[in-house]
Amino acid sequence: MNICSALKYGEKILSNKLIPNSHLDSEILLSKIINKDRKYLLLNSETKLKKSDFLIFDQLIKRRSIGKPIAYLTNNKFFWNSEFIVSKDTLIPRPDTELIVEVILKLTKSKNKINILDVGVGSGCILLSILNERKNFYGTGIDINQKCLNISKINASRLNLVSRLKLYKSNVDKFNLGKYDLIVSNPPYIKKFKLKYLDKDVAKFEPKLALDGGIDGLNEIRKVIKKSSELIKKNGKFVLEIGFDQKNKVINLLKKEGFYINSALKDLGKNYRCIVSTKI
Ligand code: GLN
Repeated sequence: MNICSALKYGEKILSNKLIPNSHLDSEILLSKIINKDRKYLLLNSETKLKKSDFLIFDQLIKRRSIGKPIAYLTNNKFFWNSEFIVSKDTLIPRPDTELIVEVILKLTKSKNKINILDVGVGSGCILLSILNERKNFYGTGIDINQKCLNISKINASRLNLVSRLKLYKSNVDKFNLGKYDLIVSNPPYIKKFKLKYLDKDVAKFEPKLALDGGIDGLNEIRKVIKKSSELIKKNGKFVLEIGFDQKNKVINLLKKEGFYINSALKDLGKNYRCIVSTKI
């Protein structure tokens, strides 16, 4: 089979299962397998595919056809300025979360050497994007899932950031190491009973551990705020990603733990997604 017919074959299976962007997804998967870019596919549409490559392509197309996100099939996702390795243990980095990176870069424009803690570091996309832009910042990432730390480590080494990064497997409530100039977190904040109503791809394939915020969605946020108030330096900044309906409750929790609220920022969908506060 040649490239053109393989792409059509993939596209047809995906569109029959109502997968959006079926043509694009078919191209992405094939280019991943033969390790060429999409331009190559267009310019070489008559080139014959190796049988073994077609069989792998067929498998990936079938997994995509049941809704498995493309990022978990290619094992990567572009976020901020770099490509990140992801696995089924990490959330797929969201464009909305780039807001957090943008805010932190603005806040730290005039800072020289600071220590940043990322609670629930996952793939490392937030912390590593910042370290990559600020060559004299240091980062610490914690996560309860060792597999996420392994992925963070791989991403750090691909970006040459290993020497400025420390990773610890820890629960947020048990972590007591160091004092930080800035703390960032994108904790699980979805209400338990709402998990099943998330987009099908998210609900079925993304890690519950990274999404489930308990009955009121604030279980982990509460812990992160409480612990951050101990781990942060006076006047340190705390940047937290939150759910679309959690702004007021989270602001109250922050105030109780001695944080001054600087701002609440909206994401691309115009929902409040990020609270910036200062420890006083
Ligand atoms: N923003 C994610 C979603 O919409 C949730 C991330 C989280 O719980 N931290 O699925």
